[in-house]
Amino acid sequence: MAVPKFTKAYAKLLAEEEREELGCHPFRPLDPYELAEHHGVRVLSLADIASEGGVLLDAHTHFTVNRPDAFSGALLPIGTGHAIVVNSAHSRERLRSTVAHELAHILLEHSFTTTFHLSGKCRQSDVKQEAQADELSGELLVPHKAAFRAARQQRTDEWVASTFDVSIEFARWRMNATGARKVAARAQAKAARAISRP
Ligand SMILES: [Zn+2]
Repeated sequence: MAVPKFTKAYAKLLAEEEREELGCHPFRPLDPYELAEHHGVRVLSLADIASEGGVLLDAHTHFTVNRPDAFSGALLPIGTGHAIVVNSAHSRERLRSTVAHELAHILLEHSFTTTFHLSGKCRQSDVKQEAQADELSGELLVPHKAAFRAARQQRTDEWVASTFDVSIEFARWRMNATGARKVAARAQAKAARAISRP
């Protein structure tokens, strides 16, 4: 079946369905590793690959010690499926968002052979597909509903980050990109005006 044309509404729906399949409540953190497993996608770390030795061991040292920011993740075709390779030198929060992003490419059935995330962006993926994978991974890790509720409750970006097990940057991006903070601020201003009216 063909994948529907990408819209933000589609990303919301797809993320909701994926979360539901794992029995993950919209206001609870999602485990992207569990979702990958659910789709039969293996998640390997550079350390796993380095255990093969040789040139791969050199690559492991290069990306985890010399230039840890140069590589975040890659999607590799394996047989009829895919494997996600992540940089074991990164923080847990960063690894979680990398896995969600790479998985989003698979869920959106993007056409690719191999993608490499170098310094934050996939090297062999087009700009549109990158934005789509970001949007879907955002909905998976911090659903818009959760962002809106957190904004209404005047939660800080730090609170959102620790509640959903994402980095502060990721939490801030979601709170702004979903429009959650703006909508909550407007609602509060409106309520304040209503109270101050004689
Ligand atoms: Zn990507």
